[in-house]
Amino acid sequence: MSARDSSFDGSFDRSFDREHLWHPYTSMTAPLPAFEVASASGVRIRLGDGRELIDGMASWWCVIHGYNHPELNRAIEAQLARTAHVMFGGLTHEPAIALGKQLVALTPEPLQHVFFSDSGSVAVEVAIKMALQYWQARGQPGKHRLLTVRGGYHGDTFGAMAVCDPVNGMHRLFSGVLPAHLFAPRPATRFGEPLKAGDLDAFEALIATHREELAAVILEPIVQGAGGMWFYAADYLRGVAELCRRHAVLLIADEIATGFGRTGRLFACEHAGIDPDILCLGKALTGGYLSLAATLATTDVAEGISASGGVLMHGPTFMANPLATAVAGRSIELLLASPWQQRIAAIEAQLRRELGVCAVHPAVADVRVLGGIGVVETREPVDVAALQELFVARGVWIRPFGRLIYLMPPYVIDPADLTRLTQAVGAALAAIEES
Ligand SMILES: *Cc1c(COP(=O)(O)O)cnc(C)c1O
Repeated sequence: MSARDSSFDGSFDRSFDREHLWHPYTSMTAPLPAFEVASASGVRIRLGDGRELIDGMASWWCVIHGYNHPELNRAIEAQLARTAHVMFGGLTHEPAIALGKQLVALTPEPLQHVFFSDSGSVAVEVAIKMALQYWQARGQPGKHRLLTVRGGYHGDTFGAMAVCDPVNGMHRLFSGVLPAHLFAPRPATRFGEPLKAGDLDAFEALIATHREELAAVILEPIVQGAGGMWFYAADYLRGVAELCRRHAVLLIADEIATGFGRTGRLFACEHAGIDPDILCLGKALTGGYLSLAATLATTDVAEGISASGGVLMHGPTFMANPLATAVAGRSIELLLASPWQQRIAAIEAQLRRELGVCAVHPAVADVRVLGGIGVVETREPVDVAALQELFVARGVWIRPFGRLIYLMPPYVIDPADLTRLTQAVGAALAAIEES
């Protein structure tokens, strides 16, 4: 441990954390244990007590290059010497321009206009606002609802929550406050399979019936993340894109979880060869260094909103933060200069081999793997606190939710470390069976 970590030696105030700091989705009176992190580098998280954990989560899917990366550190330090922040109203700067150029170049050609914000949820809010303002500007304010599929997750703010899965999301808590949108069933056809007969029918019926009041369809292309870790057919996504065109409804692709290579393509839309009208990016955008998100729009959407003096009504205080845009630009350069396709293909093959054997386990309902994502779905909800203890005792960091034990490691993980992760998943299943 370096000298900088010394403040963690014994002086760590665990009770203050427990009594005063809210963690995600936790109770203030019965919190789950939180492990103290002293530092992290590569794929290893070092705890205050000196233990080391191999990271299987990439800190909620964003730390694709590993922690404490010298190049990313340097990008932030260089920008810090210039300025940490300036407002984006009336001012602009090189890191934002450079990142904007990269995003416009890498995403589907029609997406030419970039709005920077500070988190994925806000990127989704902005996307929804763009869609609504587009139809208002075109004199069709009645097109103000959204259509999506069940099992989605788009963030925790109100506009985003309203398009999360209505059952496992938070609709019941906020019913009467959330706008009522339309939900088709979750796509049933798995990724890699030809579309099952009838799988798109309910979606098609909804979009055809409600086209006059629909502003946009929003969905996560190919991989539904926090709403259930489900991988669905490219044919389904192609069908959705075609129905959106036919019925004059915008298509919003939420690639906050899938963007930047996680599924084996740079963006998951590429699996289906579709071009959305609006695209949301976040999570891996900065390589997991800082909170930054982007919403991209086509020229049609951007010019539509801006017609007759219209302006997009959004402007976060920390919009296009120079440190965040600088590290994002460097992270993308690192990714593109790396053999990321081979790395993801190797992770995918190893996950298939090593998690595949879990499929026969009596506690397991399903095992599925796509790109750098491996999922073991159990029959019953898991005891998150108990499994977290087990994983930490085995020197790995894996945080399951609901009936899902999953791995989404940094792309730079080596085969031996990945095996440690998959073996820990096996150990967790053994423990579930005993209990
Ligand atoms: C994580 C996530 C979000 C929300 O991003 P935050 O940065 O947590 O606000 C939105 N959509 C998808 C698909 C996500 O995975």
